[in-house]
Amino acid sequence: MPAPDASGLIGLLQQVGGWEGFEVAGVTTDATPAPDVHGAPAPRLVIELRPTADHVKRCSQCGAAVTRVHETTTRRVRDLAVMEWDTWLLVPRARVECPRCGPTVEAVPWLDKYARMTTRLAAKIAGLAQVLPLKHVAQWFRVGWDTVKQIDQRALQRRLGRMEDHLDGLTQLAVDEFAIEKGHRYVTIVLDVVTKRVVWLVRGRGHDALAGFFTALGPTRCAQITAVTCDLWGPYTVQVQRFCPQAALVYDAFHLIARYGQEVVDRVRVDETNRIARAAGDGIVRDARRVIKGTRWLLLKNAPNLRAPERVRLRELLAANRALFTVYVLKDDFKQLWQYKAEHAARRWWTQWRRRARASRLAPLRRFVALLERHLHGIVAHCRYPLSTGILEGCNNKIKVLKRMAYGYRDDAYFFLKIRAAFPGIPG
Ligand SMILES: [Zn+2]
Repeated sequence: MPAPDASGLIGLLQQVGGWEGFEVAGVTTDATPAPDVHGAPAPRLVIELRPTADHVKRCSQCGAAVTRVHETTTRRVRDLAVMEWDTWLLVPRARVECPRCGPTVEAVPWLDKYARMTTRLAAKIAGLAQVLPLKHVAQWFRVGWDTVKQIDQRALQRRLGRMEDHLDGLTQLAVDEFAIEKGHRYVTIVLDVVTKRVVWLVRGRGHDALAGFFTALGPTRCAQITAVTCDLWGPYTVQVQRFCPQAALVYDAFHLIARYGQEVVDRVRVDETNRIARAAGDGIVRDARRVIKGTRWLLLKNAPNLRAPERVRLRELLAANRALFTVYVLKDDFKQLWQYKAEHAARRWWTQWRRRARASRLAPLRRFVALLERHLHGIVAHCRYPLSTGILEGCNNKIKVLKRMAYGYRDDAYFFLKIRAAFPGIPG
């Protein structure tokens, strides 16, 4: 095959570039490529374009053919790289007079009105920003962090639309809160349990936060809600009962088990440490106290996640202290409640667990039992609405990952879009 001459190369470039309505007028390289923002000198290809002879200019507002051109300015626009070379286009953009719209700019199908890059480059950046931290995407394409963020945000907005416009057909919801910026700001999140889609996000975690959602939902759609999963503690239950009185409240395992840790395990541990301190004096007691000290995480962590020396320490701790042993064993058993599929079986199990808990004579444990007893209906309700189990815990974990990827903390609108994109829902 004969080597293509210069015009052959331009024709080839034209073919792979495919800039509709334009053809390649010339190709140059930046003589002294400057180091890019990340330090590496990036060689650049500059492709000069001109309109093809048969090209009909169209209005960017209405699409009508236009003939009158006011002026033409050359725009420098980034496109996909050619091999390793960052590629720039010099695109003549015409200001035209539309018979219907008046003065406007010519439509270019592969370039948005005021964009500094082609639609296909923006699409590539948006695609990668779905799965990588913005910083990495910015480095890969040698563009600024802000540029990537802007592109990603716009693409997500287009794809996801407004939350208000996607509230039809909801029947089972899960409501929760999560903290941003180390607990200074809170966000209320509402999930569609059936499709696992995030349907609402709003700043705050008080009554107003959830009331705003139900107001947007409106009375007709509120009446279609059959069950809502949320934390037994906090303001959400009140708002659910106010707006959706027909809906079953389902208290989820994740919050109840965490609350057992705080209200029972923690309290008993502190009580025991104090009790031993009061009886202080001989060496044996001091030893016993030392065994308890600094064991909070050991007691609250899930046993399978402990390393071998930690497991030894936990065994020693539980052997040395009867009260801690009791609450620890009851905590593990408590989780079994969510294994039951039939409500009568769950209730029978509860009666047995309650008897053991009361027999312990530990005040925090008895308080916990009394509280749960009053809300038992919502605790065994998971048998009727099993989809809810674990959804909030999974959601919490995913949001932690998103936060770690540092998706614009300071920008709620963007962060909310990232969360919604992470829970797009399974099409029902
Ligand atoms: Zn027009």
